[in-house]
Amino acid sequence: MAYSYEAPVSQSLFDRASVVTPGGVNSPVRAFRAVGGTPRFMVSGTGPYLTDADGREYVDLVCSWGPMILGHSHPEVIAAVQEAVSRGTSFGTPGEGEVALAEEIVARIEPVEQVRLVSSGTEATMSAIRLARGFTGRAKVVKFAGCYHGHVDALLAAAGSGLATFGLPDTPGVTGATAGDTVVLPYNDLDAVRAAFAAHPGEIACVITEASPGNMGVVPPADGFNAGLKELCAANGALYISDEVMTGFRTSKAGWYGVDGVRPDLMTFGKVMGGGFPAAAFGGRGDVMAHLAPAGPVYQAGTLSGNPVATAAGLAQLRLLDDAAYAKIDAVSAALRSLVGDALTKEGVAHTVSAASNMFSVFFTDEPVRDYDDAKKQDVFRFTAFFHAMLEQGVYLPPSAFESWFVSTAHDERAVERIAAALPAAARAAAEATA
Ligand code: PLP
Repeated sequence: MAYSYEAPVSQSLFDRASVVTPGGVNSPVRAFRAVGGTPRFMVSGTGPYLTDADGREYVDLVCSWGPMILGHSHPEVIAAVQEAVSRGTSFGTPGEGEVALAEEIVARIEPVEQVRLVSSGTEATMSAIRLARGFTGRAKVVKFAGCYHGHVDALLAAAGSGLATFGLPDTPGVTGATAGDTVVLPYNDLDAVRAAFAAHPGEIACVITEASPGNMGVVPPADGFNAGLKELCAANGALYISDEVMTGFRTSKAGWYGVDGVRPDLMTFGKVMGGGFPAAAFGGRGDVMAHLAPAGPVYQAGTLSGNPVATAAGLAQLRLLDDAAYAKIDAVSAALRSLVGDALTKEGVAHTVSAASNMFSVFFTDEPVRDYDDAKKQDVFRFTAFFHAMLEQGVYLPPSAFESWFVSTAHDERAVERIAAALPAAARAAAEATA
C-alpha cells in the first residue's frame, strides 16, 4: 500500500535505526509493521500534541501508551524532574522520594498495604508471580489469552499487544519448561477457570489478569468476572493478581480497583505512576509482601529501583491527578467515543467502540467482543486505512487494531475539534478499504 504523504526525515532516521537496531525500534509495535508506512520519529511533545522530525504536529491519542495522562511536558512534572535532577540522578541508597511515592500508592489503593518499586511493568509482573510462587510453594500460573503482562517468559503465551499485532502465537526463546507451568485460558470464562483448578489441585500459585484488558483492544471484564476469579482463588489457596500497569491511576484515582472494588492479593502498576519515566511497582497484602527480601526469602532487587528522578516525576503526576482531572479525562474520552462512533456509522462501517472507564478502542466488527478470539475476528484492514487517514490529517493513533487509545487532561476543545475534523475522511477510508 502506498501512502500519499511523506516523512523524509523520519524515513532517514528509520533507515539509520534499522542498521543498528533490530527492526529499527526498541519496542516492536512502534515499527508500524501492522499498518505499514514509516514510523514517525517524535522530537517533542506539548500538552495533547506531538511534533515529529519532519516538523508535523499530531494530536496524540497514544500518550506514550498510557503514561502521559496530564499531556506532554506538564510544567509541574517538568519542574519536579528538574529539581530532582539538580540534586543528582541515582544514589543506590534509600531516598525520601521513593517513600513518598509508596505512601501515595498505599493511600490511594486500599488493598495495597506494602509496595515495592521497580523500573518497568514487566519487572512488576515477573516479581509478583515469583512472590506468589514463593508464598504458596506452588508452580502453576493461570493467565488469559489476549492479556499482556510484559515480556515475562512465563507470561508470553497467547499474550496480546505486540504479539496480537503481529499474529505471533508464542515466541521462540521461551523454553517448554518455563511455559509448561503457564495455563492459558479464554478471557471472561469462569467455567474454564473452575475447570483449571479442578484439573490442577493444589498446584496453581496464582491467577494473573489485566484488571480490565487493554492489550487485545479494550475488552472489559464481564459483570462478576473479577469477583469470580477472586472467589475461586480464595477457595483454592491461590493468589489473585490484578495487573493494573495500564489501568492503574488511569481508570480512576484508584485505578480499576476504584471501579469494581474487587480486592486483589497482589497488584502491579507502571505507566502513569512514573510520569513518563521508568517507574513501576507491585504490592498488596502485607503478609504476602513480607515474604520479599530482605524481610523474607523471595529475592527481588534493582539497581535503579526507586530512582529519584523517576519517583519525583511519578509523585508530581499522581499529586495532580485529583477528582477534577479524572472527570476531565472521562469527559474527553466520552466525547471522542461518540464522535468516532458517529463518523463510522455515517459511512456504514461495522464497528464497536469498546470502553472501560476512559480507556477505549474501536473494533471493526459489530459482533460483541468478549475475548481474544472475538477481537481477532475484526476487519483489521479497515483499521489500517482508518489509521493512515488519521495520521495524514495529523492525528496519531496507536499503530495497531489491538491497542487502547489514551487521552489526557490536556486534550482540550481545540484538540477534540482537530480529531473531529479528521474523522469523516478516515471513516470513508475505512468504508472503502478492501482486504
Ligand atoms: N502489564 C500490562 C497490562 C501492560 O499493558 C504492560 C505494557 O504495556 C505491561 C504489563 C508491561 O509493562 P512495561 O512495558 O513497562 O514492561
